[in-house]
Amino acid sequence: MILYCTILLNIFSVIRSEYNYDQQGADWTGTCRYGRNQSPIDLTQKHATMKHLPRIEFEKYDLALRTPLLLVNNGHTAHMELPPVGHIKGGMLRGKFVPQSVHFHWGSLISKGSEHAINNERYDAEIHIIHKNSRYWDKSVGEASQLPNGIAVLAVMIKSVLREEESELNKVFEALPQIIPYKSNTTIYGRLTMKQLLGNIDTGKFYTYKGSLTTPDCTELVTWTVFKEVVSIRLSLIANFWSLTNSHGQPLINNYRELQDIHRRKVYYRSCDVLKKLLDWW
Ligand SMILES: [Zn+2]
Repeated sequence: MILYCTILLNIFSVIRSEYNYDQQGADWTGTCRYGRNQSPIDLTQKHATMKHLPRIEFEKYDLALRTPLLLVNNGHTAHMELPPVGHIKGGMLRGKFVPQSVHFHWGSLISKGSEHAINNERYDAEIHIIHKNSRYWDKSVGEASQLPNGIAVLAVMIKSVLREEESELNKVFEALPQIIPYKSNTTIYGRLTMKQLLGNIDTGKFYTYKGSLTTPDCTELVTWTVFKEVVSIRLSLIANFWSLTNSHGQPLINNYRELQDIHRRKVYYRSCDVLKKLLDWW
């Protein structure tokens, strides 16, 4: 029996690591196909419920991240493990969530690559910062993703521009030519903070909803916070994504999942500090 289970687990782990974006996820199975709380979705202000949610609070997000920071081409994305320092709370989050890793989704020369859409508009790329509930400090991210309120993801849209202000986030994009082959990695040098990884955007406006991981096995216990403000990155830096290669030596492009049905879910939109404004007024 144990042997049988081990074989089954191995098969599942192969399936899980073998997924691809040939059909933008339409051919993925299990929860990915039958789940009713899947991500990404189109976030529209018209259909979102305005809610007086608190801001997201960022604890220690101004501190320089402990180095070395290793950027890895894992065949699906450019991925960087993060030191589990500080946390976020507020918004629709139930509890404190500690940063775990960051990765990206992108398109190609002729296609946009964000996963979520905002008001029917998809962007050139999307940043995902994965957080784990501090309650599950002794669990892995994979284990926490199976537990209630286990995972929170912060998402930021990226749009390409021809010229932009110099940004510390550029360090990540400038390192991409060092990780072109599958499984290659490189070290990011210099000072980098969590705030800078978020592109120093205004985090006061965001959409939030209950969704899933956007890669197999598409577990549905994820609280999404997608910021309205978009970060601008030079097109020539975004183009660095397109030269990465996957485990078959092919270009790693269009690593985004197609939009999912919202079903009966509610999406909330948070736009301002209503309470603070009222207090100021009084
Ligand atoms: Zn992602």
